[in-house]
Amino acid sequence: MEQIPHIVIVISPAMGHIIPLVEFAKRLILHDDFSLTFLIPTYGPLPEPLKAFLEALPNGMNHILLPPVNFDDLSDDVRMETRGALLISRSLPSIRDEFKSLVASTRLVALVVDHFATDAFVVAKEFEVSPYIFFPSTAMTLSLFLRLPKLDQTVSCEFRDLPEPVQLPGCIPIHGKDLLDPVQDRNNDAYKWLLHLTKRYTMAEGIMVNSFKDLEGGAIESLQQEEPGMPPVYPIGPLIQMQSHSSADGSGCLRWLDGQPRGSVLFISFGSVGVLSYDQLNELALGLEMSEQRFLWVVRRPIEEVAGASSAHSHKDPFDFLPEGFLDRTKGCGLVVSSWAPQAQILSHDSTGGFLTHCGWNSTLESVVNGIPLIAWPLYAEQRMNALLLTEDLRVALRPKADRSGLVGRADIATAVRTLMDGGGGGKLLRDRMRDLKDAAAKVISTDGSSTKALIELACKWKSIST
Ligand code: UDP
Repeated sequence: MEQIPHIVIVISPAMGHIIPLVEFAKRLILHDDFSLTFLIPTYGPLPEPLKAFLEALPNGMNHILLPPVNFDDLSDDVRMETRGALLISRSLPSIRDEFKSLVASTRLVALVVDHFATDAFVVAKEFEVSPYIFFPSTAMTLSLFLRLPKLDQTVSCEFRDLPEPVQLPGCIPIHGKDLLDPVQDRNNDAYKWLLHLTKRYTMAEGIMVNSFKDLEGGAIESLQQEEPGMPPVYPIGPLIQMQSHSSADGSGCLRWLDGQPRGSVLFISFGSVGVLSYDQLNELALGLEMSEQRFLWVVRRPIEEVAGASSAHSHKDPFDFLPEGFLDRTKGCGLVVSSWAPQAQILSHDSTGGFLTHCGWNSTLESVVNGIPLIAWPLYAEQRMNALLLTEDLRVALRPKADRSGLVGRADIATAVRTLMDGGGGGKLLRDRMRDLKDAAAKVISTDGSSTKALIELACKWKSIST
C-alpha cells in the first residue's frame, strides 16, 4: 500500500469553489508529501473554463468526474443552493464507490469537502476517515453557518424582518436583508438544505477558512476560542490563483493592458456567473462613458436573455445589447470582452488600478493580494455580507447606491469610478488601506506567516494519522 498520506476532496463543480481548493492542495503538496484526489459530482457537461482548469491540474492531483446525477424532476425555479446540495446527496453512491477503491489502494487520511458538501461526511464516517471542511468564503459567513442551527430555533420571523441587525461575535452588525440569499426565505428548500448542511458542521474535525486575521481579526478570534462542540478553525488564506489558465486570453486583454498607463484601468467583472439586467447594463455602460476613465469590462448578455437560454454564440454581434455607439465612443480608453477573462493576471497587471466587482470572495482576495481598491456591486450568495465587510469594516471599497427599483444609475456609477480611479474624494484613502492589506496578506503567507503555520499544523496532524 502507498505510504504517502492521501486526501480526498469532494467539491461542487463551480469555479469559485474549485479554484481556492486547488490552491490549498498545491500548498499542501508544496509543504509536505501528500497525494490528492478530487471527486467532482456533475449534472452534465462541465463549462469550458472549468474543463480547461481541471485538465491543467498539476502533478500529484487526480480528479475524477462522478457520473452525472439526474435533475429532470427539478423545476426551473429551484434555487442553485438546492441544486448544489442535491448534487452531493445524489452523488453519494458514486462517492462511496470511489472511496472504497481509494481506501483499498492509498493511505487515505482525510476527507475535505467544500461548504455545501457536508453530506459526504456520512461516507467518511463509514470508512472511519477524518472529515474536514474547506470554507472558501469569509470567517463572518462561517460564523453565521456555525450558528445557523441555533438562530433557526431562536428567530421566529424571516431574518429580513428582524428589527435589529444580527450580531455575530467579532463581526460588524448585519441587517437580516443583507444575509446570504438562501436564508432570505425560510420556506424555500434552499434554506432547509442550508440548515441541514450546517447542522453537519460540528461533525468536522477541523475547518479551513480562506481568510486571515488582518482582514477579519474579530471574527477569526471568536471562531478560535474553544467552544464545546465547535471544530478547530484554521485561517489559511489568502489562497488565490496566481495565474488563470493560459488559453484564457483569447480576447487579448493582457496585450491591451500592456499599452495602458500604470494604475489607470478599472477592471469590471461579475465573477464566473454574474449577470445584470438589460437596463442595468445600459446604465453601467453609460456611467463608464461619463466617468472618462479607462476600463476593461468582462460582459455577459443580459439576464433576460440568459434566462431564455440565449448565448453569445447565437448572436452575430456579441455586444448588440450595449447602448448604440458605446463601443465606438469608448474605443481607445475601454475594452469590452465577452464572458471570461484571465482575471488573476489582469488584477496583477501594472495597468490595473481599480476593480468593480460582485464581491465574490475569490475576486475579493485576488484584489487584496494585489492591493487593488474596489467598487462593491454584490449580486448573489453571500456577496452582500462581503460588500458590508469591504465598505463598512475594512473601508477599501465604495458602493454606489441603487434606487428604489434596484437600479444603480449612470451618474452614481460615474462618480464612484472617478473617485476610485483619480484618488479624490476619499479614493486615495481606500487605495492606501488596500496597500496595507496587501502587505499583511504577503506576510501571513510567508514562511513564518500565520496562514503558513496553520497549514503546517494541519499537515502534521494529517501525517500523524495512522490507517
Ligand atoms: N474568474 C476568471 N475570469 C473571469 C471570471 C472569473 O478567472 O472572467 C475567476 C476569478 O479570478 C475567481 C473566480 O473565477 O478566481 C470567481 O470566484 P468568485 O468567488 O470571485 O466568484 P463566483 O464566480 O464564485 O461568484
